[in-house]
Amino acid sequence: MLRRKKMMVAVDDIKSLEASSGHGDSKMEQKTIVDEIRRVKHIGNGRFGRVWLGEWRGEKVAVKVFETKDTESWEHEQKIYHTKMLHHENILNCVTCSMWSSLSSHTELWMILEYHENGSLYDYLTNHTLSTPEALRFLTSIISGLCHLHTEIRADNESKPGIAHRDLKSKNILVKRDMTCCLADFGLAICQDLTRQSCVEKIPPHPHQGTKRYMAPEILDGSINGSSFSAYKQADMYALSLVMWEILQRCEIEGKPLEYTVPYQAHVPHDPSVEEMKVVVVLREIRPELEERWNRNEVLAIISSQMQECWRANPHARLTIARVKKSLQQLTQAPHNKDDWM
Ligand code: ADP
Ligand code: MG
Ligand code: MG
Repeated sequence: MLRRKKMMVAVDDIKSLEASSGHGDSKMEQKTIVDEIRRVKHIGNGRFGRVWLGEWRGEKVAVKVFETKDTESWEHEQKIYHTKMLHHENILNCVTCSMWSSLSSHTELWMILEYHENGSLYDYLTNHTLSTPEALRFLTSIISGLCHLHTEIRADNESKPGIAHRDLKSKNILVKRDMTCCLADFGLAICQDLTRQSCVEKIPPHPHQGTKRYMAPEILDGSINGSSFSAYKQADMYALSLVMWEILQRCEIEGKPLEYTVPYQAHVPHDPSVEEMKVVVVLREIRPELEERWNRNEVLAIISSQMQECWRANPHARLTIARVKKSLQQLTQAPHNKDDWM
């Protein structure tokens, strides 16, 4: 608790330094923050950059480093993090993005993020199994984060557009210290245009961006209506169903849980092409394997049925995030689960 409070103070310090950089010599101020961060170790690799564990005034932070050739991606992700009212306990907290560093004439773009020592959900599931209450806690938090992201909010003097993630997967979800999760990596996210219900981007985003293994059938076969914002939320719901499956397979019920595998591991190679995914997901209509024992557990049976409603081939037939959230809320409020949950 004390650590958390200290971290919040540190974050406030960085923010006030950043705010003060709006006056006078801003480059000098920004450089001060960058100079004060010490890179401790490399903790992750992604599509664009490398993620480091950093230390700032004795506190741990995650530093996502982009090369200058990826300035557009850095700017895009930073724009999403700056969306008004985005802040939520299940969405990764970005401390500051407006940073640059010039080390031996090499310029880098930095994004300073709250650090989560448990790493990604993928890393966690690879190394740990879950009890049913733990699985439910993971899922409820992921769903709560996605619901906040997808939801458009109109308040008196502020509003938040709906946002679709477009790269939802276990590697882009982090496990927090309190064993809840938060969504991360908003590099491909898009905002809803509040006036036209379409996407804010003038040109609809390229449909085959994202991680092929998690691509919804309509993305794989190109039938998605690229200018409709809801279409991207529906594709997120499909990706969510695969994350739900990854969690379910690691649940400790009736003996040993399954070993961790990525979705469709038995059907496609390590780095599948769109064509290979399309054959499995669209043409053969294969979905990840279901376990009979899930149906014998009251909680897992409900999660499994929600999951199957989210991976339907017809995007319009999938559940919305608000619907899934409501069902899981009922589950956690049921008297027989409450003790485990609290
Ligand atoms: P990319 O956009 O390049 O895919 P990500 O933001 O997904 O980069 O980060 C890559 C990996 O780095 C993640 O899968 C995770 O393992 C690790 N990581 C990212 N941010 C954090 C963080 N805040 N705390 C701990 N680990 C992180
Ligand atoms: Mg990523
Ligand atoms: Mg990314």
